[in-house]
Amino acid sequence: MRSRLPGFAALAMLAAVTAAQAATPPATSYTIAMPDPSSHFFHVTARFEKVRGPFTFAVPSWTPGGYVRDEVAGNVLDFAAADGSGRALPARKTDTRTWAIDAPRDGIVEVRYRVYANERGTPYGARLNASVGHANLARLLGFAPDRLAAPARVRFEPYGDWKMATSVPPDPAGGGWYAAADYDLLVDGIVILGRFVEESFDEGGAHWRMVFSQPMDFKKNDLIKDVRALTREAAAIFGVVPFKDYLFITLIEPEAGRGGIEHRDGTSMCAAAELFDDREKYSSYLGLVAHELVHAWNVKRLRPAGIGPYQYIGETPTKNLYVAEGFTTYLGPMALVRSGAVTREEFFKSLGERMVSDRDNAGMLAKSLEEQSWDWWLESKVPFLTYRSNYTRGSLVAWKLDYEIRTATQGARGVEDVMKGLYGQIATRATGYTDAELRQAFVRWGAPGMDARLDALVGRPGALDLAVVLDDLGLEMVPDPAAPAAVYVGWRTTGTGKEFPTVDWIEPGSPAAKAGLQDRDMIVAIGGRRVAVDRLDKDLAAQAAGKEVAVSYFRDRMLMESRMTPEAPRPAKVIVRPRGDASPEAKNKLEAWLAPKAKP
Ligand SMILES: [Zn+2]
Repeated sequence: MRSRLPGFAALAMLAAVTAAQAATPPATSYTIAMPDPSSHFFHVTARFEKVRGPFTFAVPSWTPGGYVRDEVAGNVLDFAAADGSGRALPARKTDTRTWAIDAPRDGIVEVRYRVYANERGTPYGARLNASVGHANLARLLGFAPDRLAAPARVRFEPYGDWKMATSVPPDPAGGGWYAAADYDLLVDGIVILGRFVEESFDEGGAHWRMVFSQPMDFKKNDLIKDVRALTREAAAIFGVVPFKDYLFITLIEPEAGRGGIEHRDGTSMCAAAELFDDREKYSSYLGLVAHELVHAWNVKRLRPAGIGPYQYIGETPTKNLYVAEGFTTYLGPMALVRSGAVTREEFFKSLGERMVSDRDNAGMLAKSLEEQSWDWWLESKVPFLTYRSNYTRGSLVAWKLDYEIRTATQGARGVEDVMKGLYGQIATRATGYTDAELRQAFVRWGAPGMDARLDALVGRPGALDLAVVLDDLGLEMVPDPAAPAAVYVGWRTTGTGKEFPTVDWIEPGSPAAKAGLQDRDMIVAIGGRRVAVDRLDKDLAAQAAGKEVAVSYFRDRMLMESRMTPEAPRPAKVIVRPRGDASPEAKNKLEAWLAPKAKP
């Protein structure tokens, strides 16, 4: 039977399969080894087959999710190429991140190189040390520019008795391989290697793994209960769980700040070891988890045109990073508070912090949110231009649009309906949404005129007034009495203890700017009295708003004096809370806004 000739239909199918194979190059196979973790070098091998003619290999300039140039090539050593029999193939660099390799005689090119990986405190790149190995795979794996669409697979060779967890799905063919349909999907994967600990759960038809690089004391908090509830509320926003497996990696390091980077089916995060001992740190960590998780929908699948399909050399700017980051900064806390994992007080506290941060963001008066999105790639020396605007202002714009849509539709719809509608339209498409499609979505799933409202909020610089939004929900924002506000002068200073404060930067248009002060000035007296870093706020609090005062300072070696008129205090911390006299209608709106959305 086996030798029987295939019939005509089978022959036609065979021909079609052969044509498809000709169009798609054979799978690229990568191996990642780590024979000496303390050296911080991963050893990478990449094997390409059916190579006809000279071959080009490159390593990425940036990692999707980073939107900044972050060249892998600078960390690569010992690059070499060989054919299938191990015979060396001449390779020369044609630019700083690309190699031209001579044609192999047997159609096989195998490249080998070492990548230095010694990241600390952040999760954006790769690290290998005696305790742990971790990588966002775009930081290790290079590519053949004409084979980005080819299937790709990777095998890990963990050090010693180390375990391994990756978001790349296992290859059904086995052999210890993990496989993806193309290079994009492969390098969107993450891996952790070491003696990590792990918790897992099943929810919404998916299997969720939470891996911590060090043993953790989970006792004080019910992490799995909290994250499980969070996943339900995040999924409720978009109406679907778009994956079967999701991997949370948390790298525990003493120097860790609060950082994460999103991937299609997982996230890499960093946190300090006290994470579960301290309620504030724990709720902040949950906020990070919520943000990165919402990205699985907003940006990994629902993404702006331009940033996907990815290209790995050069910038890929978009005007819509405020949707990618800002709307995620809005939706993450919404899912979290609805899940009950954080209290409403904790939610309001983080909302208040965002409002203060936006109020103090002079960059928003200089550049629109769309311009700041586009220019995220640039490193700016302008001290008040911060990429953070995309997060903070973006999240508050989402909130304001939510109010406007709710008002226009008598509460029938909100900004989440727009995101859900756009997700349904775009997420399974290879290319992202255009500016026009974003605006159409605001009209179609929001309300008439919301395209123009979006333009007004993101298309030009200016302050954002949220008083009407607070009022609509029966909320108020009051100064935090625990952090009394000094008069506003608009300088940021550095220094410690009894030192004289040195001006770090001056807010444009502020009283200090009008007084002619500039960065590097060392303030020595206010109103003829000596000042010190540890009592500067007190000294300023003793001043009256609107009343001129003498400021003495050293500029280089010269003692100078200026007259400065402080303005009314701007509280550094605020409390957002429900108003005692809120109307029943406002109370209902607040409940509708914060109540759980996931079906039990
Ligand atoms: Zn983000």
